[in-house]
Amino acid sequence: MNTRKRLAAMRRAGAFPQAGSPLNPACVIGPDQRCEHPLVDQALNQHLSAYEQQVRGRFAVIVGTLKTISAFQHELDFVSRAQAIALDKLGYQLPADLLGEAWVSGLNLRALYSYCIFCSFKECIENADADQAPWRGRMALDMAFLRACGYHTLDISPCADGRLQGLLPFVLRLVPDEAVYVKAYAGAMFDVEMDVADWAHRELERLTGGIPGGEDCNYLKVAVYHFSSSNVQQQGCAAHGSNDHKAVESALVRLNELRVAIENTYGRGAAPEILLIGVDTDIDAIRVHLPDAEGDVNPYRYVDSGEVYHKTLSMTPDAARQQIAEMIAEAERSEGWAQGNGRMSDGMRRLVQQLLESNLSQIEYVVQYHAGRYSVIGHNERFICVGEAMSELQLRNKFYFAHLDTVEEGATDIDVGIKIFTGLNIKHGLAVPVLIHFHYSSRVPGSRERAIHRCRRIKAAIRGRYAHLCTQGLLDCQIAVSDRAGSERCTFIEDEIQDAGH
Ligand SMILES: [Zn+2]
Repeated sequence: MNTRKRLAAMRRAGAFPQAGSPLNPACVIGPDQRCEHPLVDQALNQHLSAYEQQVRGRFAVIVGTLKTISAFQHELDFVSRAQAIALDKLGYQLPADLLGEAWVSGLNLRALYSYCIFCSFKECIENADADQAPWRGRMALDMAFLRACGYHTLDISPCADGRLQGLLPFVLRLVPDEAVYVKAYAGAMFDVEMDVADWAHRELERLTGGIPGGEDCNYLKVAVYHFSSSNVQQQGCAAHGSNDHKAVESALVRLNELRVAIENTYGRGAAPEILLIGVDTDIDAIRVHLPDAEGDVNPYRYVDSGEVYHKTLSMTPDAARQQIAEMIAEAERSEGWAQGNGRMSDGMRRLVQQLLESNLSQIEYVVQYHAGRYSVIGHNERFICVGEAMSELQLRNKFYFAHLDTVEEGATDIDVGIKIFTGLNIKHGLAVPVLIHFHYSSRVPGSRERAIHRCRRIKAAIRGRYAHLCTQGLLDCQIAVSDRAGSERCTFIEDEIQDAGH
């Protein structure tokens, strides 16, 4: 059944509420009203829904397929039958040695499961262009728009929590791009030194004409924290003990530290602009904290897109846009704790306005396709990605990401990930699949070998740190590399495939 037919069938079966969901605070409406906002891009939402089903489908078939295969593991033609089923249902074959050993020691389903998670992920990476083509062109927030707002680079550090994995195309409706860096850390506690290096690298590119159209633009650093409006105490940010206040303050401290670091090193006026965004991971509404004329951000001065949605639902598009502008202006005039020093720049204002408008489509997406509030409000990731993430896969709760250079510095992030997967996988007898991935540049001699060496070093450190899980077969590591300058994406390193599960 194709996606459109499947959606229609689900709609007929009442899978999607036609009116507003009482579960969604943004969509509390009267009896004759519908949650159909004038500024929502319905066609874009349909494309994103098809994308979501396609990507999730590649993971959803794994358990059923392995159960089918395991049912006849002692039969004579097991290996050939298993491979035929795997190819048909999963789109790839299974490791011959794992199947060949089944008649002696039983099928190692734990290792096969991890193997399949890695391969399904690779399928998503390989098909990313085709999968994403229908929605990439429809997003209002792309690099051309960001440049028009005055930014040549967008450096985003969300929390590593898998619920923020769909941040770019879903929550922010922002097209993934080479000039948009996503570096996730537990609690959005990004590495200031690494950011200074990234900023300096981009400045050098800008000054040498390496960023066409970006000569007069600035670097924008965004930190994204998150909270859960329906289960404040339990489902907020694990890295901050679900303490929302701490999540906001900590992210802001890091943003300010980055500005100070660059100003102290490169002189006054050099610092990048900053922005702080909060995501309610139950309904994907955002809070955009407004910078003032000095570029300073305040935990108390923000506009909530859920309130915007609710207030502007029955307006015309023009009136709704006007209302958003007024809500921004009103927040800027705040006094007391929320008071700022003057109005933000016009470019930043344009960006904030568009972020709030674009997110209205995501609020309605959750209303239409997830009954107003995600049924799984907590964690549901499939694997842990360590090292550098690939921007090719952007979907909520697909993987927990720990950005790091060495295990020592990323230990807290990986520990949080292992804690999450103890509940998700280990409790059910499944191993924790850990993908260790780094980019290299084919323009740089020896870069690929060094990336592989780095992956191996990190794999050894992870296996050492979680030796108690390894000895029980509860940790499967897979290493992979991608070429930053060429077309190679997520190549699994051969001996590591055979190593999975051992
Ligand atoms: Zn978090």
